[in-house]
Amino acid sequence: TDYDIAGLKGRLGGIKVEDNPALVQQKSRDFYWYSPTLKRQLDHVVGDLIVSPTSEAEVIRTLQAAFELGIPVTPRGTGTGNYGQAMPLSGGVVLDLSGLNKVTAILPGRFVAEAGTVIAEIDKLARAQGQEVRLHPSTYATASIGGFVAGGSGGIGSIAWGGLRDFGNIIRLKVVTMEANPRVLELAGEDLHKVAHAYGTNGVITEVEMPLGPAYGWVDLIFGFDGFQAAAAFANDLGEQDGIAKKNLSVIAAPAAHSYFLRHQDYLARDKHVVIAMIADFAVDATLAFARRAGAELMFRSDDVVPEDGRKLPPGFELTWNHTTLRALRIDPAITYLQVLYPFPNQVALAAKLSEQFGDEVIGHLEFVRFDGKVTCFGLPMVRFTTEERLEEIIRIHEEMGAPIFNPHRYTLEEGGMKQTDEVQLAFKREADPKGLLNPGKMIAWEDPSYDYTSGKTFLFKSLSEKG
Ligand code: FAD
Repeated sequence: TDYDIAGLKGRLGGIKVEDNPALVQQKSRDFYWYSPTLKRQLDHVVGDLIVSPTSEAEVIRTLQAAFELGIPVTPRGTGTGNYGQAMPLSGGVVLDLSGLNKVTAILPGRFVAEAGTVIAEIDKLARAQGQEVRLHPSTYATASIGGFVAGGSGGIGSIAWGGLRDFGNIIRLKVVTMEANPRVLELAGEDLHKVAHAYGTNGVITEVEMPLGPAYGWVDLIFGFDGFQAAAAFANDLGEQDGIAKKNLSVIAAPAAHSYFLRHQDYLARDKHVVIAMIADFAVDATLAFARRAGAELMFRSDDVVPEDGRKLPPGFELTWNHTTLRALRIDPAITYLQVLYPFPNQVALAAKLSEQFGDEVIGHLEFVRFDGKVTCFGLPMVRFTTEERLEEIIRIHEEMGAPIFNPHRYTLEEGGMKQTDEVQLAFKREADPKGLLNPGKMIAWEDPSYDYTSGKTFLFKSLSEKG
């Protein structure tokens, strides 16, 4: 590329930069390879320079210099996103925020942390004070809190608290703009929607304030069922037991749990559909009583297990959300996945119907959540990939049967989301990133205002078509 990288480096004296090609390539990637489509489209994508600030002041200096030289900047937390969100489609700077890693405050009911802090680190400090992070992705151990806010949606805790989009799950964000003189803005309330889940296309988050809850000891319970629908119905009913403190509730169709959860395999059976529940230790007896009435068979409880090899089992939540897909992929590289909405209140019946529709080709996987006070579920079904055409067909059949897809095989905000312009995020980009230098190619509304989302085509960002 013809960016003045030497000029940029000259202006960034004192800030850590890296241009070793192998390291630059490594930090230009995320978990895009979950998708065979994104793997094909994005494999060649690479930035020119990794810049690793360790303070907000260094972020400001970096943005100011890149703005002056017209060099794109793609923010990155720890690169665990699944849709190429943190990949620099136009090259330029990858802004590695993992050095902004200080927990600023643990207060009653909330924390304040720098955006690059790994979530487990925040949780550890909160736990020392009897509190815990209320909502986190299954990548708890590796993801940054800023990356979660900018690129994630929900996860562990969503069965109690809903998703990141729901009111109250983010309290406040500090954001730096991409201008000649970058501004530092504090956003709260309605304004959070400007940058939350905007993939870093319209501001760099430097600080996050989010709620904490009381710290509990958590126990994983796994129940087995002969039918997928019976498992889903049990999970839904358990989700509605408001007296039982729980943090996660997932359903995996047979034989996937047995085939893919190798460390838990001894406790599982090939022909059983499973419900994986993360339950507060003091609520285990109540859960087992409830399960007995429902005729559910307990297959595993984490507080009762000493693996023969002495190695610790992974936490149950690392079998759920997109860890399910990861474990499947490690064993069967042909597996990919979808993200499905089963509209309330018919979620259980529709999920079961769709699971029957495709047989072994689409393997049922449900994550239960509480949205607007109502228990429902999303699907992250695993798909045995054959061709991109067949994948599109599977998506179409879901949508025809009344189950909208949030397509994880697209790198743009719109195609992965509501398939329409987010006017709030677009307006904020005009204000905070007037040259369009932040994470180019991810917001269609900015790149091509007249784009027709109903065309049935896939958006192709021009930098990609030039290189790819
Ligand atoms: P990155 O991947 O580095 O970045 C994500 C996006 O945010 C990018 O667009 C990037 O440009 C932008 N960004 C990062 N930091 C900033 C910042 N400070 N300011 C502005 N923009 C920024 N997601 C869920 O929501 N729930 C899950 O349960 C879940 N489970 C997962 C399991 C696995 C095995 C994997 C691989 C992924 C999973 N994900 C899940 C997706 C991903 O892990 C999370 O969204 C995670 O929180 C992203 O954090 P990160 O630091 O890796 O962000």
